[in-house]
Amino acid sequence: MHEWALAESILSTALNAAEKEKIKKIKEIVVGLGELQQVEQDIFEFALGELVKDQPEILKDVKIKIKSEKSNFVCNNCQNHWSFDDLKKGINEDESEAIHFIPEVALVHSRCPKCGSPDFEITKGRGVSILSIKGVK
Ligand SMILES: [Zn+2]
Repeated sequence: MHEWALAESILSTALNAAEKEKIKKIKEIVVGLGELQQVEQDIFEFALGELVKDQPEILKDVKIKIKSEKSNFVCNNCQNHWSFDDLKKGINEDESEAIHFIPEVALVHSRCPKCGSPDFEITKGRGVSILSIKGVK
């Protein structure tokens, strides 16, 4: 059910931003969905579509686009950067599937491709965020 909670927070964030910018009508919201985020995109889109119906006038004709955000990992040892795609090349399909659904597994199973250190962070590709809002003032 957390897709609904996420969708709700996206809409309220958009409303707050619109109020701040004195936007009278929101035309478009671009939502970034991290590829490591555990969200069912279909449910998320459906939730957004349903929730928009109960929103104030300002959101009446809004178009919501969802963009998948690529992941990024950074090594704490050598500062090397890599992505989930790079990671997938070094593991078998079962693990890749597991990483897709349980990002934490990525931390257990992989190493920095450059120096082999297991000490790295996920800097992108998690979470849901608003990338942009277009509106009319
Ligand atoms: Zn490294």
